[in-house]
Amino acid sequence: MQETKYKALKYIRLSSADDLKNGESDSVANQRRLLDDYLKNHPEMEVVGEYVDDGVSGIVFDRPSFNAMMAIIQDGGANCILTKDLSRLGRDRIETGRYLRRIFPAFGVRFVAINDNIDTLNDSTDGLYISVKSIINDEYCRDISIKTRSALDVKRANGDYTGACPVYGYKKDETDRNKLVVDGYAAEIVRDIFRMKIDGYSSARIAKTLNERGVLSPMEYKKDRGLPHPKGGYADRNGAKWCPTTIIRILSDETYTGTLVQGRYGTPTYKLREIVQRPEDEWHRIENAHEAIIQRHNFDLAKKIMRLDTRTAPKGDKVYLFSGILICGCCGNRMTRKTVPYKGENYYYYWCPTGKKNGCTDSVMIKERDLIDCVLGNIKAHIVNIASLETLIAGIDATSIARGLADRLTEQIAENERRLDKIRGYKASLFENMMNGNLTKEEHRALKDKYSQDAEMLITANAQLRNEAEAVLSCRHERMAWTGHFTKFESLDTIDRRTVIHLIHSIRVLGKNEIEISFNYQLEYENAVELFTKEAA
Ligand SMILES: [Zn+2]
Repeated sequence: MQETKYKALKYIRLSSADDLKNGESDSVANQRRLLDDYLKNHPEMEVVGEYVDDGVSGIVFDRPSFNAMMAIIQDGGANCILTKDLSRLGRDRIETGRYLRRIFPAFGVRFVAINDNIDTLNDSTDGLYISVKSIINDEYCRDISIKTRSALDVKRANGDYTGACPVYGYKKDETDRNKLVVDGYAAEIVRDIFRMKIDGYSSARIAKTLNERGVLSPMEYKKDRGLPHPKGGYADRNGAKWCPTTIIRILSDETYTGTLVQGRYGTPTYKLREIVQRPEDEWHRIENAHEAIIQRHNFDLAKKIMRLDTRTAPKGDKVYLFSGILICGCCGNRMTRKTVPYKGENYYYYWCPTGKKNGCTDSVMIKERDLIDCVLGNIKAHIVNIASLETLIAGIDATSIARGLADRLTEQIAENERRLDKIRGYKASLFENMMNGNLTKEEHRALKDKYSQDAEMLITANAQLRNEAEAVLSCRHERMAWTGHFTKFESLDTIDRRTVIHLIHSIRVLGKNEIEISFNYQLEYENAVELFTKEAA
């Protein structure tokens, strides 16, 4: 038989309310059974004592039995601690880390957390660090999932589709009813709709075009294919055609970008039966939940065009080349197009409708033809700039850029961690303060809630930052992707509405011969220029 080397102490902690939030409910008996089973296979350990803290929070370390156990250790009465998992030892990770890396080694204590596979006898310092870290990460995941309110919400958080009737263009996956897959035919129609919108069609004209082509409306299509569709009501009447409302609904639906948006509607309280639209920031939004039909920037573009349309041509069929983009340099109003017939020919001008009476003292009337020439020349010059910038930046070591970006994110993560530790410290002292009578129960609860909220916010922020940092390092981010937006217009020789909308944010008319063009992706452009000048310096 192997010689006994370790004088072991069993440590058992029964979960308090703090832990129960995390869904734990280990009885003392269960923990003891687990420890005893483990001991059967470890004859090198001899049990010299058992310590139980019943219902004491894992956040504070000042627990009666724990203190008694540490006193034995300090007296040299034992040199091994056995526990079910790391969180039995403590939930405050700073303190836990201090025990693991400083105190236990200082007293020559072997520490074993069975379910976390931690045994300081086997673990090198680095190995220990990694296993501790992974447990902390698990805890983050748990923390985040606690926030979800119901089983349905949990499903949504996973990116599962919970609705009964998928939006036009998608259908439910045959093998996984919780996933959306692209419906080839309908998806093509959706792409047509976005294409037409970007090319300057009004929603009414898109609807008319589809009806003329004999394309079935979403409702009729779903009925025709035997797909699930909402029953009853106005929409269910036979022979429903495409109408502008349907077009607008499709153009506004983020689902087409691959983002799953759910929980848009709900009942405000359990007492009310009616279903209302929830505020947008309460929607469940999960990116890349399914295959995209429309690229993000095209979706944004269509959205921008719709916004411009409502201000320029709410009912009309045609949107003019510069509608909504041309701004009066004097008063800031949007300029309007007008036709001037002269000797049997039509000339087109843009002018400011504000008028002198309403404060536009210095408005300019500008010829569309002149504007087109000027804008075209400027676009071409801008594209040349971007193309050469792209080449220059391609020469810079991409890894060093990614490293720099990731470092900045990591710094923010560390900063948030520091704040988080502080908050946890405050939280721990609250408990003591209530025990000492410095705080009433109500004050304790109110402060605790506040600290919990702050901590939750930081945890969420850090989870996001970590994803970002990881993406940056694996170069999944497309740093210069926006340049393609311009360079694809390289061989441009005329401009149409689509080009204008794609490339230009706004044009201010300052004088007959003076305009100021603000391009899309201006910020990205300036960042790239800055990046290059820094690298070149
Ligand atoms: Zn004006």
